[in-house]
Amino acid sequence: MTMTINRLDRIPGTAEALIRAITFDSADLVPVIAQDARTGSVRMFAWANREALRRTVETGLAHFWSRSRQAMWRKGETSGNVLRVRDIRLDCDGDAVLYVTDAEGPSCHTGRTSCFYRGLGASRPAAAEGEVTAVLADDDGPVDPPAVVVARVAEVIARRRRERPEKSYVVSLLDAGWPKVLGKIIEESGELVDALPEDDAAHTAHEAADLIFHMLVGLEVAGVAVDDVFAQLRKRFGVSGIDEKASRGAASAPSASAAPAAKPPAQPVRKPANRPAKTKAKDSGKKPAKSASSRAAKAPVRKPIKKAGRRK
Ligand SMILES: [Zn+2]
Repeated sequence: MTMTINRLDRIPGTAEALIRAITFDSADLVPVIAQDARTGSVRMFAWANREALRRTVETGLAHFWSRSRQAMWRKGETSGNVLRVRDIRLDCDGDAVLYVTDAEGPSCHTGRTSCFYRGLGASRPAAAEGEVTAVLADDDGPVDPPAVVVARVAEVIARRRRERPEKSYVVSLLDAGWPKVLGKIIEESGELVDALPEDDAAHTAHEAADLIFHMLVGLEVAGVAVDDVFAQLRKRFGVSGIDEKASRGAASAPSASAAPAAKPPAQPVRKPANRPAKTKAKDSGKKPAKSASSRAAKAPVRKPIKKAGRRK
């Protein structure tokens, strides 16, 4: 199997500098945790010796040391599920290593995404006596942070485009081209706008998911990485929405037909971080009927509502 080599030692001596900083245990090993860079999820744990670290730095692929086999091994050498190492980090006292990786496929030999697929939480009553027995629960690994779900959906969309499976909704959208994709984004936006004031959380969540999904399809077609969208949002932490909008100026406004769909999602994300969230909740709780009817009357009422919230 051919691998793209992405060496981490573009600066000579990187591996040795790393190794010098590590406090190895009495068996000359150091524990290594492999983390998925995109999801933050812990994929696996294993040991490394100096040679495994050197090979990891040289190849950009995670290498470990097997204590049972007394041999170096490369993650994925048999399964193909490699861990491409973006970064290697040391903990405070240098006796534990973190591989920050781009993971291909599941990382556990059981087929689970993470080796840490067993956790507390499930307990079943024993048959007769009603005693409770603690049982470890099996799943696919630690729960992703909510935003990671978006990245994972984007990955699935990108994979559908590459692999073009039959009976794929994504492929049918992509084949139909921009008019279909843009039409869906507008349609789903409208459905979300209708749902929001209806005081039906499940329905609203469903419509929001539809909009996010189709937005991600649009980003895939446009070749815009969802990471870049998150980077934009990240920049806005701690920045007032009004200042941020002003800093963008009028220049960004006339940016083609995608602009109307792109603008609204940007604002609600900033808002909950600040005080208006409370105001908003109060409003919708007190008089849902009134706001529902006024919002339903004309779709773009959302902006005025926000401004009002901000002034308070
Ligand atoms: Zn495992």
